[in-house]
Amino acid sequence: MTKIRKIATLGEKVLLKKAKPVKNIRDADVQKLIDEMIATSEHNNGVGIAAPQVFESKRIIVVHSYPSPRYPYAPKFGPEAMINPKITKKSKEKEKGWEGCLSVPGYRGLVPRYKKITVEYTDRDGKTKIMKAEDFVARIIQHEIDHLEGRVCFLYWLEDIKNLMTEENWKKMLAEKK
Ligand code: ZN
Repeated sequence: MTKIRKIATLGEKVLLKKAKPVKNIRDADVQKLIDEMIATSEHNNGVGIAAPQVFESKRIIVVHSYPSPRYPYAPKFGPEAMINPKITKKSKEKEKGWEGCLSVPGYRGLVPRYKKITVEYTDRDGKTKIMKAEDFVARIIQHEIDHLEGRVCFLYWLEDIKNLMTEENWKKMLAEKK
């Protein structure tokens, strides 16, 4: 069975470190880590996860978007492992959206992200890929890459403390908007 990893939460030093590039992608330990990252993200109803969030300071992210209790309106994409990902193009336009994070349990923050990006990465089979992403999927990729840079994702980009909410109040706000 694939192991569900412990999640590093706010205050763990591994979240503040710049992660190291991965060379031997086909190695069994890297493949196993990817499987465990996918399983850990799914187990927690996440839509993405970065290796530092499971205490591995390596440049690997998993993007797996699907409608879930945490993100009811998410589109379907993945699970796709992106190794050594790099954003090579960004739209001028940014858009604000609410984000949560498995490492910041119980909170949501409203932060700006580029609306469209191009990301280059190596997939788990060792193939180089160039992908254009927009909106929610682009947001996930930008969020997870933050973790590789040692930034605790949405908190880093928070412009105003008013844009931070508990998950409970965020759900209430969504329900009231309907
Ligand atoms: Zn995060």
